[in-house]
Amino acid sequence: MAAKKKPYVKLQCAICKNINYNTHKSKTMEGKLDLIKFCKKCRKRIKHKELKK
Ligand SMILES: [Zn+2]
Repeated sequence: MAAKKKPYVKLQCAICKNINYNTHKSKTMEGKLDLIKFCKKCRKRIKHKELKK
């Protein structure tokens, strides 16, 4: 059996679809992640959404 991996998700910019961040998803965080993060490509703070594998 494979070792248990921490559930981790990628955060994708809602505007340019660039994947800018990787983050670990904690057990308490259910559902979709929505975070305001700085996007280098857009050069401003954009809502980033969780990207499913
Ligand atoms: Zn962007």
